[in-house]
Formats: sequence, structure tokens, C-alpha cells
Amino acid sequence: MHEASVALALVDVATEALHEHGGARVTALTVRVGAWSSVVPEALMAAFPACAAGTPLQGARLTVVRVPGVGDCPAHGPVELDLTRGLRCPSCGAAVPALVQGDELELDELELGDPELGELALGRQGRPEPDPAGPERTALPDSETPGQEDV
Ligand SMILES: [Zn+2]
Repeated sequence: MHEASVALALVDVATEALHEHGGARVTALTVRVGAWSSVVPEALMAAFPACAAGTPLQGARLTVVRVPGVGDCPAHGPVELDLTRGLRCPSCGAAVPALVQGDELELDELELGDPELGELALGRQGRPEPDPAGPERTALPDSETPGQEDV
């Protein structure tokens, strides 16, 4: 079954990432599945628990993000493709040379069981850091003390 081998591959990739970051287990993962990837999200989600059993991903929550197929029409630029029409622009019918997106099958995010590691965003840079000014701010009550003015 196609989706089972896909699920097994996901478990492998996620386990590798987990070991790289020294985590103990994966509690949740997000996978991006293109509409043109030939992977059926429902079948993947159905196959996943059995493939994750006995691995650090056992019991992990799998979220599938569906990515629509987008092609580059010579006249219209990026257009969302209709699977039933193939690689043709839905507006003008022109042949679209290649998919811009929609054939991907990739692990997007992992949520690790180790609270110190927290959520791990894969392949993304510029993770927001906590504002250093935030926790330092001390909310003092009104510092003006009445009765100390020189008269
Ligand atoms: Zn077009």
C-alpha cells in the first residue's frame, strides 16, 4: 500500500530529526501533502498509527496540510490547477510547463515530547525570539509619592 510506505518514510525522517535534537519522542507532526503528490491524506492518516507504533512517534498527532497544485501559465502567471484537467491553465487552457507547488510531500513541523525543546520548525529560519524587553519590564505602581513636594 502506497500510503503505508509514505508513512514509514515519514516516521524515519521524523525519528532522525528527533535524534538530531536529542528529544525523547514526537508528540505531533505536520506534513505538507501536495494535491498532485498522489498521496491521499486520509489514507496516510489511516496508515500512520500502525507505522508509528513502537517508534518514538507512537501516539503522535498527525496533521496533514493540503497544498493545492499551482502552475505557471505563460499568460496568467501562477494559477491553481484542476487535477481533472491536467497541466493546463484553468482560465485559458494553455499548457503549463511545470508545477510551482503541489507535488510536495514533506515534513513541516515536529512537536517534541521534551518540554525544553518544545516545537521545532523544520527548514525555517528566523524563529521569533522572546522580546528581551518584555520580561524585564517591571510594572511599578505610580512612583509619585504624595506629600513630598517642597512647599
Ligand atoms: Zn492562462
